[in-house]
Amino acid sequence: MNDIPQVESLGNGVWSLPVPIPGNPLGFTFVYLVEGHEGPVLIDTGWNHDDSWKALTLGLEQAGHAVEDIRGAVLTHFHPDHTGLVGRLREASDAWIAMHPADIAVVEQLRSTAPERRAESIAAQLRAAGFPSEEIDTFLAAPHVLAPPEPADLPIDDGASVELPGRDLRAVWTPGHSPGHLCLHLADAHLLFTGDHVLPGITPHVGQFPLHAAEGDPLGDFLTSQAAIGLLPDADVLTCLPSHESRFTGLPERTAEITGHHEKRLDAMAALLSEGPATLWEVTSRLSWKRAWETMGPRSRHMAASETAAHLRTLEERARVSRTGPADRPRWIATP
Ligand SMILES: [Zn+2]
Ligand SMILES: [Zn+2]
Repeated sequence: MNDIPQVESLGNGVWSLPVPIPGNPLGFTFVYLVEGHEGPVLIDTGWNHDDSWKALTLGLEQAGHAVEDIRGAVLTHFHPDHTGLVGRLREASDAWIAMHPADIAVVEQLRSTAPERRAESIAAQLRAAGFPSEEIDTFLAAPHVLAPPEPADLPIDDGASVELPGRDLRAVWTPGHSPGHLCLHLADAHLLFTGDHVLPGITPHVGQFPLHAAEGDPLGDFLTSQAAIGLLPDADVLTCLPSHESRFTGLPERTAEITGHHEKRLDAMAALLSEGPATLWEVTSRLSWKRAWETMGPRSRHMAASETAAHLRTLEERARVSRTGPADRPRWIATP
Protein backbone atom coordinates (compact mmCIF):
# COMPACT_ATOMS: atom_id res chain seq x y z
CA MET A 1 0.00 0.00 0.00
CA ASN A 2 1.34 3.42 -0.95
CA ASP A 3 1.61 6.09 1.72
CA ILE A 4 -0.83 8.92 1.11
CA PRO A 5 1.10 12.13 0.26
CA GLN A 6 0.35 15.49 1.88
CA VAL A 7 -1.95 18.16 0.51
CA GLU A 8 0.40 20.48 -1.37
CA SER A 9 0.38 23.87 -3.06
CA LEU A 10 2.15 23.52 -6.42
CA GLY A 11 2.25 27.29 -7.04
CA ASN A 12 0.39 29.07 -9.86
CA GLY A 13 -2.89 28.60 -7.97
CA VAL A 14 -2.74 24.81 -8.31
CA TRP A 15 -3.16 22.37 -5.41
CA SER A 16 -2.61 18.65 -5.17
CA LEU A 17 -5.25 16.93 -3.02
CA PRO A 18 -4.51 13.20 -2.62
CA VAL A 19 -7.71 11.21 -2.00
CA PRO A 20 -7.30 7.66 -0.64
CA ILE A 21 -8.72 4.59 -2.39
CA PRO A 22 -9.28 2.37 0.68
CA GLY A 23 -8.17 -1.22 0.19
CA ASN A 24 -6.71 -0.64 -3.29
CA PRO A 25 -3.00 -1.14 -4.04
CA LEU A 26 -2.96 2.11 -6.05
CA GLY A 27 -3.39 3.81 -2.67
CA PHE A 28 -4.77 7.18 -3.75
CA THR A 29 -5.92 9.39 -6.59
CA PHE A 30 -4.47 12.87 -6.97
CA VAL A 31 -7.37 15.29 -7.28
CA TYR A 32 -6.13 18.70 -8.41
CA LEU A 33 -7.59 22.11 -7.74
CA VAL A 34 -6.99 24.99 -10.15
CA GLU A 35 -7.88 28.47 -8.93
CA GLY A 36 -9.43 31.08 -11.23
CA HIS A 37 -10.66 34.67 -10.82
CA GLU A 38 -14.15 33.53 -9.90
CA GLY A 39 -13.50 30.36 -7.91
CA PRO A 40 -11.71 27.05 -8.38
CA VAL A 41 -12.27 24.00 -10.54
CA LEU A 42 -11.40 20.42 -9.63
CA ILE A 43 -9.79 17.86 -11.88
CA ASP A 44 -11.36 14.51 -10.89
CA THR A 45 -13.03 13.78 -7.56
CA GLY A 46 -11.68 10.52 -6.10
CA TRP A 47 -13.11 7.22 -4.89
CA ASN A 48 -16.56 7.03 -3.29
CA HIS A 49 -15.88 6.34 0.40
CA ASP A 50 -16.40 8.31 3.63
CA ASP A 51 -12.63 8.48 4.23
CA SER A 52 -12.07 9.73 0.68
CA TRP A 53 -14.73 12.44 0.98
CA LYS A 54 -13.23 13.50 4.31
CA ALA A 55 -9.75 13.72 2.75
CA LEU A 56 -11.09 15.78 -0.15
CA THR A 57 -13.01 18.26 2.00
CA LEU A 58 -10.11 18.62 4.49
CA GLY A 59 -7.74 19.14 1.54
CA LEU A 60 -10.00 21.86 0.14
CA GLU A 61 -10.04 23.52 3.54
CA GLN A 62 -6.22 23.49 3.66
CA ALA A 63 -6.20 25.09 0.21
CA GLY A 64 -8.50 27.79 1.57
CA HIS A 65 -11.71 26.74 -0.17
CA ALA A 66 -15.07 25.38 0.92
CA VAL A 67 -16.79 22.61 -1.06
CA GLU A 68 -19.66 24.93 -1.94
CA ASP A 69 -17.21 27.30 -3.69
CA ILE A 70 -16.22 24.71 -6.32
CA ARG A 71 -17.38 25.94 -9.75
CA GLY A 72 -17.07 22.60 -11.46
CA ALA A 73 -15.13 19.38 -11.89
CA VAL A 74 -13.56 18.10 -15.09
CA LEU A 75 -13.28 14.31 -15.05
CA THR A 76 -10.30 12.81 -16.87
CA HIS A 77 -12.29 9.59 -17.41
CA PHE A 78 -15.14 7.50 -16.05
CA HIS A 79 -13.20 5.09 -13.77
CA PRO A 80 -14.45 4.97 -10.16
CA ASP A 81 -11.21 6.26 -8.61
CA HIS A 82 -11.80 9.48 -10.59
CA THR A 83 -15.58 9.85 -10.57
CA GLY A 84 -16.66 8.20 -7.31
CA LEU A 85 -17.27 11.41 -5.35
CA VAL A 86 -19.28 13.19 -8.09
CA GLY A 87 -22.57 12.50 -6.29
CA ARG A 88 -21.37 13.92 -2.95
CA LEU A 89 -19.79 16.94 -4.69
CA ARG A 90 -23.10 17.64 -6.43
CA GLU A 91 -25.03 17.43 -3.18
CA ALA A 92 -22.63 19.83 -1.46
CA SER A 93 -22.20 22.40 -4.26
CA ASP A 94 -23.61 23.73 -7.53
CA ALA A 95 -20.61 22.40 -9.44
CA TRP A 96 -20.99 21.41 -13.07
CA ILE A 97 -19.46 18.03 -13.97
CA ALA A 98 -17.67 17.83 -17.32
CA MET A 99 -16.51 14.75 -19.23
CA HIS A 100 -15.65 13.81 -22.81
CA PRO A 101 -18.73 12.63 -24.80
CA ALA A 102 -17.19 9.19 -25.45
CA ASP A 103 -16.98 8.50 -21.70
CA ILE A 104 -20.42 10.04 -21.13
CA ALA A 105 -21.68 7.35 -23.54
CA VAL A 106 -19.87 4.60 -21.57
CA VAL A 107 -21.43 5.83 -18.32
CA GLU A 108 -24.90 5.85 -19.91
CA GLN A 109 -24.39 2.30 -21.05
CA LEU A 110 -23.14 1.16 -17.62
CA ARG A 111 -26.08 2.87 -15.91
CA SER A 112 -28.61 1.23 -18.21
CA THR A 113 -27.34 -2.31 -17.57
CA ALA A 114 -28.18 -4.16 -14.35
CA PRO A 115 -25.07 -5.45 -12.51
CA GLU A 116 -26.21 -9.10 -12.91
CA ARG A 117 -26.62 -8.57 -16.66
CA ARG A 118 -23.12 -7.09 -16.84
CA ALA A 119 -21.65 -10.09 -14.97
CA GLU A 120 -23.52 -12.55 -17.23
CA SER A 121 -22.28 -10.76 -20.32
CA ILE A 122 -18.66 -10.92 -19.10
CA ALA A 123 -19.11 -14.61 -18.22
CA ALA A 124 -20.30 -15.29 -21.78
CA GLN A 125 -17.27 -13.45 -23.15
CA LEU A 126 -14.90 -15.44 -20.91
CA ARG A 127 -16.55 -18.66 -22.13
CA ALA A 128 -16.00 -17.61 -25.75
CA ALA A 129 -12.39 -16.76 -24.86
CA GLY A 130 -11.85 -20.37 -23.76
CA PHE A 131 -11.73 -19.77 -20.00
CA PRO A 132 -12.34 -23.04 -18.07
CA SER A 133 -15.84 -23.32 -16.64
CA GLU A 134 -14.69 -23.45 -12.98
CA GLU A 135 -13.00 -20.11 -13.55
CA ILE A 136 -16.26 -18.62 -14.88
CA ASP A 137 -18.21 -20.05 -11.93
CA THR A 138 -15.79 -18.33 -9.51
CA PHE A 139 -16.19 -15.09 -11.44
CA LEU A 140 -19.98 -15.26 -11.23
CA ALA A 141 -19.90 -16.23 -7.53
CA ALA A 142 -18.22 -12.91 -6.66
CA PRO A 143 -20.31 -10.43 -8.62
CA HIS A 144 -19.10 -6.93 -9.23
CA VAL A 145 -21.06 -4.74 -6.82
CA LEU A 146 -19.52 -1.36 -7.64
CA ALA A 147 -22.22 1.21 -8.46
CA PRO A 148 -21.90 2.75 -11.93
CA PRO A 149 -20.56 6.33 -12.06
CA GLU A 150 -22.85 9.35 -11.70
CA PRO A 151 -23.53 10.96 -15.08
CA ALA A 152 -21.73 14.16 -16.10
CA ASP A 153 -23.83 17.15 -17.20
CA LEU A 154 -21.36 18.96 -19.46
CA PRO A 155 -19.70 17.38 -22.50
CA ILE A 156 -16.20 18.67 -23.16
CA ASP A 157 -14.58 18.00 -26.51
CA ASP A 158 -11.00 17.83 -27.71
CA GLY A 159 -9.37 21.28 -27.58
CA ALA A 160 -12.24 22.89 -25.63
CA SER A 161 -11.45 25.41 -22.90
CA VAL A 162 -12.55 24.64 -19.38
CA GLU A 163 -14.85 27.40 -18.12
CA LEU A 164 -12.42 28.94 -15.61
CA PRO A 165 -12.09 32.74 -15.92
CA GLY A 166 -8.50 33.97 -15.75
CA ARG A 167 -6.89 30.66 -16.73
CA ASP A 168 -6.03 28.85 -19.96
CA LEU A 169 -7.05 25.27 -19.20
CA ARG A 170 -7.82 23.09 -22.23
CA ALA A 171 -8.94 19.52 -22.80
CA VAL A 172 -6.71 17.23 -24.85
CA TRP A 173 -8.58 14.09 -25.90
CA THR A 174 -6.34 11.05 -25.36
CA PRO A 175 -8.48 7.93 -26.04
CA GLY A 176 -7.05 4.53 -25.11
CA HIS A 177 -7.14 3.92 -21.34
CA SER A 178 -10.82 4.85 -21.75
CA PRO A 179 -12.59 5.96 -24.96
CA GLY A 180 -13.04 9.51 -23.69
CA HIS A 181 -9.91 9.98 -21.60
CA LEU A 182 -8.84 13.61 -21.28
CA CYS A 183 -5.55 15.20 -20.31
CA LEU A 184 -5.86 18.84 -19.20
CA HIS A 185 -3.29 21.34 -20.36
CA LEU A 186 -2.78 24.43 -18.19
CA ALA A 187 -0.78 26.38 -20.76
CA ASP A 188 -0.39 29.48 -18.56
CA ALA A 189 1.63 27.45 -16.02
CA HIS A 190 3.18 24.77 -18.32
CA LEU A 191 1.37 22.05 -16.41
CA LEU A 192 -0.25 18.94 -17.85
CA PHE A 193 -2.76 16.93 -15.84
CA THR A 194 -2.19 13.51 -17.40
CA GLY A 195 -4.93 11.52 -15.62
CA ASP A 196 -4.17 7.82 -16.13
CA HIS A 197 -2.91 8.37 -19.71
CA VAL A 198 0.73 8.90 -18.76
CA LEU A 199 1.98 7.70 -15.36
CA PRO A 200 5.67 7.82 -14.43
CA GLY A 201 6.10 4.15 -13.45
CA ILE A 202 2.98 2.14 -14.34
CA THR A 203 1.83 1.48 -17.89
CA PRO A 204 -1.91 2.16 -17.75
CA HIS A 205 -4.35 -0.62 -18.56
CA VAL A 206 -5.73 -0.64 -22.10
CA GLY A 207 -8.48 -3.19 -22.70
CA GLN A 208 -10.86 -4.33 -25.41
CA PHE A 209 -14.51 -4.45 -24.25
CA PRO A 210 -16.26 -6.66 -25.16
CA LEU A 211 -13.34 -9.07 -25.46
CA HIS A 212 -14.15 -10.33 -28.94
CA ALA A 213 -15.14 -7.04 -30.59
CA ALA A 214 -13.79 -7.11 -34.12
CA GLU A 215 -14.02 -3.34 -34.52
CA GLY A 216 -12.42 -0.43 -32.70
CA ASP A 217 -8.76 -0.44 -31.75
CA PRO A 218 -8.28 0.95 -28.23
CA LEU A 219 -4.55 0.14 -28.12
CA GLY A 220 -4.03 1.72 -31.55
CA ASP A 221 -5.89 4.80 -30.23
CA PHE A 222 -3.77 4.73 -27.07
CA LEU A 223 -0.50 4.64 -29.03
CA THR A 224 -1.70 7.50 -31.26
CA SER A 225 -2.63 9.44 -28.09
CA GLN A 226 0.82 8.80 -26.60
CA ALA A 227 2.45 10.28 -29.69
CA ALA A 228 0.01 13.20 -29.78
CA ILE A 229 0.52 14.28 -26.17
CA GLY A 230 4.31 14.25 -26.62
CA LEU A 231 3.84 16.80 -29.43
CA LEU A 232 2.30 19.56 -27.29
CA PRO A 233 4.23 22.77 -28.06
CA ASP A 234 5.65 22.97 -24.53
CA ALA A 235 6.05 19.17 -24.06
CA ASP A 236 9.74 19.47 -23.17
CA VAL A 237 9.17 21.96 -20.36
CA LEU A 238 5.88 20.65 -18.99
CA THR A 239 5.53 19.40 -15.46
CA CYS A 240 3.19 16.41 -15.60
CA LEU A 241 0.64 15.93 -12.83
CA PRO A 242 -0.66 12.35 -13.04
CA SER A 243 -3.58 10.86 -11.12
CA HIS A 244 -1.38 8.28 -9.37
CA GLU A 245 2.26 7.77 -8.31
CA SER A 246 4.12 11.13 -8.43
CA ARG A 247 4.64 14.16 -10.66
CA PHE A 248 7.32 14.06 -13.33
CA THR A 249 8.97 15.86 -16.24
CA GLY A 250 10.33 14.42 -19.49
CA LEU A 251 6.95 13.72 -21.10
CA PRO A 252 8.29 12.82 -24.59
CA GLU A 253 10.70 10.25 -23.09
CA ARG A 254 7.98 8.70 -20.92
CA THR A 255 5.53 8.39 -23.82
CA ALA A 256 8.30 6.73 -25.87
CA GLU A 257 8.90 4.22 -23.02
CA ILE A 258 5.20 3.39 -22.74
CA THR A 259 4.96 2.94 -26.51
CA GLY A 260 8.06 0.71 -26.50
CA HIS A 261 6.52 -1.48 -23.80
CA HIS A 262 3.43 -2.14 -25.94
CA GLU A 263 5.44 -2.73 -29.12
CA LYS A 264 7.36 -5.44 -27.22
CA ARG A 265 4.11 -7.02 -26.04
CA LEU A 266 2.75 -6.94 -29.60
CA ASP A 267 5.90 -8.71 -30.84
CA ALA A 268 5.66 -11.32 -28.06
CA MET A 269 2.05 -12.12 -28.99
CA ALA A 270 2.79 -12.31 -32.71
CA ALA A 271 5.70 -14.68 -31.97
CA LEU A 272 3.45 -16.87 -29.80
CA LEU A 273 0.83 -17.04 -32.54
CA SER A 274 3.41 -18.01 -35.16
CA GLU A 275 3.51 -21.40 -33.36
CA GLY A 276 -0.14 -22.10 -34.19
CA PRO A 277 -3.67 -20.83 -33.57
CA ALA A 278 -4.66 -20.02 -29.99
CA THR A 279 -7.72 -18.83 -28.06
CA LEU A 280 -7.67 -15.63 -26.04
CA TRP A 281 -7.33 -17.73 -22.87
CA GLU A 282 -4.34 -19.60 -24.32
CA VAL A 283 -2.54 -16.42 -25.42
CA THR A 284 -3.26 -14.59 -22.15
CA SER A 285 -2.22 -17.46 -19.88
CA ARG A 286 1.03 -18.04 -21.81
CA LEU A 287 2.21 -14.44 -21.60
CA SER A 288 4.24 -13.12 -18.71
CA TRP A 289 2.45 -10.67 -16.40
CA LYS A 290 3.71 -8.45 -13.61
CA ARG A 291 1.86 -10.74 -11.17
CA ALA A 292 2.22 -14.47 -11.80
CA TRP A 293 -0.76 -15.82 -13.77
CA GLU A 294 -1.24 -18.64 -11.22
CA THR A 295 -1.83 -16.13 -8.40
CA MET A 296 -4.39 -14.00 -10.29
CA GLY A 297 -8.09 -14.17 -9.37
CA PRO A 298 -10.80 -14.32 -12.08
CA ARG A 299 -11.28 -10.54 -12.13
CA SER A 300 -7.55 -9.87 -12.69
CA ARG A 301 -7.52 -12.58 -15.35
CA HIS A 302 -10.46 -10.88 -17.08
CA MET A 303 -8.49 -7.60 -17.06
CA ALA A 304 -5.42 -9.42 -18.42
CA ALA A 305 -7.55 -11.01 -21.16
CA SER A 306 -8.99 -7.59 -22.11
CA GLU A 307 -5.45 -6.22 -22.36
CA THR A 308 -4.42 -9.18 -24.56
CA ALA A 309 -7.55 -8.73 -26.70
CA ALA A 310 -6.64 -5.07 -27.27
CA HIS A 311 -3.18 -6.11 -28.46
CA LEU A 312 -4.64 -8.77 -30.76
CA ARG A 313 -6.97 -6.16 -32.30
CA THR A 314 -3.98 -3.90 -33.01
CA LEU A 315 -2.10 -6.86 -34.54
CA GLU A 316 -5.17 -7.54 -36.73
CA GLU A 317 -5.24 -3.89 -37.82
CA ARG A 318 -1.56 -4.21 -38.73
CA ALA A 319 -2.32 -7.47 -40.62
CA ARG A 320 0.13 -9.37 -38.42
CA VAL A 321 -2.49 -11.81 -37.08
CA SER A 322 -5.94 -12.93 -38.19
CA ARG A 323 -8.96 -14.62 -36.64
CA THR A 324 -9.96 -18.16 -37.48
CA GLY A 325 -12.67 -20.56 -36.31
CA PRO A 326 -16.26 -19.80 -35.24
CA ALA A 327 -17.12 -16.27 -34.06
CA ASP A 328 -18.28 -17.66 -30.69
CA ARG A 329 -14.90 -19.33 -30.07
CA PRO A 330 -12.33 -17.47 -32.16
CA ARG A 331 -8.65 -18.32 -32.37
CA TRP A 332 -5.89 -16.09 -33.61
CA ILE A 333 -3.01 -17.03 -35.88
CA ALA A 334 0.01 -15.09 -37.12
CA THR A 335 -0.16 -14.18 -40.80
CA PRO A 336 2.67 -15.86 -42.69
ZN1 LIG B 1 -8.31 4.74 -15.04
ZN1 LIG C 1 -6.93 5.97 -12.00
